[in-house]
Amino acid sequence: MTPDIYLHNTLSNKKEKFEPLDRGEVKIYSCGPTVYDFAHIGNFRSFLMSDLLVRVFKYAGYKVIKAQNITDVGHLVSDHDEGEDKILKKAKLEKKDPFEITQFFTEAFLEDEKILRILPPEYRPVATEFITEQIELAEKLINNGFAYEVNGSVYFRTRKFKKYGQLSGNKVDDLQAGKRVEISAEKEDSVDFALWKKADENHLMQWDSPWGKGFPGWHIECSAMSAKLLGLPFDIHTGGEDNVFPHHECEIAQNECANNGEKSVNYWLHVKHLLVEGKKMSKSAGNFYTIRDLLDKGWKGEEIRYALLGAHYRSTLDFSYDSLVQARSSIERLKEARRIFSDLAGTAKVDSDLKEVEEFKTSLFDDLNVADALSVTFNLIKKGMKAREENKLTAEESAGIVKFLEEDFNSIFDVFAEINPIKQGSIAKKVFFHLQDRLQFRADKNWKEADRIRDYLLKEFDIELKDEKTENGREQTIWNKRDGSASGWVY
Ligand code: ZN
Repeated sequence: MTPDIYLHNTLSNKKEKFEPLDRGEVKIYSCGPTVYDFAHIGNFRSFLMSDLLVRVFKYAGYKVIKAQNITDVGHLVSDHDEGEDKILKKAKLEKKDPFEITQFFTEAFLEDEKILRILPPEYRPVATEFITEQIELAEKLINNGFAYEVNGSVYFRTRKFKKYGQLSGNKVDDLQAGKRVEISAEKEDSVDFALWKKADENHLMQWDSPWGKGFPGWHIECSAMSAKLLGLPFDIHTGGEDNVFPHHECEIAQNECANNGEKSVNYWLHVKHLLVEGKKMSKSAGNFYTIRDLLDKGWKGEEIRYALLGAHYRSTLDFSYDSLVQARSSIERLKEARRIFSDLAGTAKVDSDLKEVEEFKTSLFDDLNVADALSVTFNLIKKGMKAREENKLTAEESAGIVKFLEEDFNSIFDVFAEINPIKQGSIAKKVFFHLQDRLQFRADKNWKEADRIRDYLLKEFDIELKDEKTENGREQTIWNKRDGSASGWVY
């Protein structure tokens, strides 16, 4: 028997008791990153919540099957049908092949995930590897009248799906007047959204389809991949609150209209956005952080993890320097407690489970209440320390605290082991593009730009460069981090 778990469902806007579709098993789909840049800490707050959910279900004895995608095509700057593809935009900026961009940032994402101790999902579908499934889904929707083709693009007839807006609370009529839906001349109705878009010949990412060459819309990717890997319906779909509309609203429309109106996902969980020092995170405000930025400033993976997990997922998290300092001191306190109680316990065995174990579980099973779970933990430590000072703590009781910290607490928060970033790798990757650009500038005899990059790498990364010719006459650059911690070469 698995214990009762309660989750706040965006669909009903209520906390509900979780009822799995299959007993003892939970199937979760989490929207993953669009790999056109390093994911920032706001993205990782959402990915960490999905990790927390997985861990809580495992802790409760469930078998967990999670799929988290990698979006490597079709995510437009507007999150809807307008604007450039985020990946192509970046590729142009970097003068790189788009597939080079997606490969590079996928690897960077996987590294960051490891640094934050996010458990790998059972499935990690990549959008461009499921083009056939996406085309099939669009065809199905055309065949049953929920979509139409025009000039090589395919659009969904939003008004035809009466339940459109059930997740976000948006009304179709309001959308028409709203700013997010731009009127597109070829659509039957301005509120329709693209399932497939025609690609002009210069478009760098395109595939054959029954409607000519094109590329999928972002929303259809997640529908096609979740249905293929988890089957419909499945239990839980997660994402950031900015995914509620249009992304998840459109996913529901696609799923249900392709399946006779049957409910496709039982629980939708959304993570609130994050503030940094009380402000919305943005590059222009100078408060924009990736995991790498924080590692470079000397913070450790487990400290970032702890700070990002610290607030309940449905409340705004104000990420700050102070929250990292607090995370560091909390982790030190936890490690110290584990050491002290282990020494006291010696070889003693736990005689009975602590009441705190139950309280810890109750907190987490109540919509992932981490704040309560942490206060149970720290109260237990305080109580244990006091009993120890008064010489009232038995070895068996100490062993009980150690067991709680190692098996209960750490199965969720996972902060005891030092998380070693793949330091050389992450620095190497960070400077790689700069060095490649610099080689091109040198080849073009643009010494000014080449020197600018040299100065930048020295100032920002403490990296020195040496240019030389290889045996076969090719230009190459050797780079060295001045403290000797990393080095490499690029040609
Ligand atoms: Zn998605």
